[in-house]
Amino acid sequence: AAKERGKNQYAFYKPELTEKAEYRFRVEQSLREAVEKQQLSLVYQPQVQILTGNIIGVEALSRWHHPRLGQISPTEFIATAERIGMIKPLTEWVLRTACNQAVAWKQAGLPAIRMAVNISPVHFLDKDLVSLIKRVLDETGMVPSELELEVTESIVQTDQQNLSIFRELKDLGVLLAIDDFGTGYSSFASLKHLTVDCLKIDKYFINDMLIDNKSKILIGSMIEMCRNLEHKIIAEGVETEEQCHTLQKFGCETVQGYLFSTPVSPDEIAKLLNNNVVHGSSMWSYSR
Ligand code: C2E
Ligand code: MG
Ligand code: MG
Ligand code: MG
Repeated sequence: AAKERGKNQYAFYKPELTEKAEYRFRVEQSLREAVEKQQLSLVYQPQVQILTGNIIGVEALSRWHHPRLGQISPTEFIATAERIGMIKPLTEWVLRTACNQAVAWKQAGLPAIRMAVNISPVHFLDKDLVSLIKRVLDETGMVPSELELEVTESIVQTDQQNLSIFRELKDLGVLLAIDDFGTGYSSFASLKHLTVDCLKIDKYFINDMLIDNKSKILIGSMIEMCRNLEHKIIAEGVETEEQCHTLQKFGCETVQGYLFSTPVSPDEIAKLLNNNVVHGSSMWSYSR
């Protein structure tokens, strides 16, 4: 009977594992040709100044629509790209597409805004990153000070190699942001060695902020610390006016989240930039 059960369990678990492995395999295989087949695209999420409602920047976010597998989450395919050594060509495509888009908006007469691009920590440690960024800036005509690179806290170490990459990037004139701030391993002390332009407070803190008093205290302290260190702050994942209002009271001036806009197409951004105010929200009534 035990043997019978064992057999059944085996029969029960095996298909599931195989399906997952097969899915992963198919994702890996198709990712290699996704760029060529033009299955990747970028959407852009506004970063909004609470006081004015102005869009001061956008974050470029990758999307992959596979003809058979459908929409695949970036969390899934970025991790896959890192695993199979595809992250460099993918980052290059993202950088080039985002910079071309920023230049196109400006050529269309729209106000200049910052373009933020995510850089995988795996790629950040690569010696070629600096030259890749330089090449893309040169080839697209992107103004360096309008490009912001978002890296997660895992690269924030006082490690010599990291520090010199940071310096080289700063020398290029691009901006640097720490993404998902507060969730990583970095000690606050390591911040003093870095010339970071912006810290993005992770959406998990924002999400819990009004439910859990500890999160609220942590956010208040993070914002105060950033202000004292003269880092810009962006709160990520802001979904309600109440969250926005609290953040503003704490001294956070810029937010990114569904309250203002989900990530949208370049055309949608152009429309929003045309009257550079995000309508449909009463945000700025707080500051009056
Ligand atoms: P991230 O860089 O922290 O990007 C913010 C994520 O939060 C995005 O998810 C965005 O759609 C989502 N978000 C924005 N506002 C809200 C909100 O109000 N509520 C909630 N619940 N979510 C919100 P997305 O686009 O699924 O991307 C997930 C992650 O995948 C990104 O997190 C980033 O780490 C990575 N990623 C996306 N595109 C790229 C890329 O081109 N390169 C690299 N290296 N990573 C990327
Ligand atoms: Mg990001
Ligand atoms: Mg983030
Ligand atoms: Mg993230």
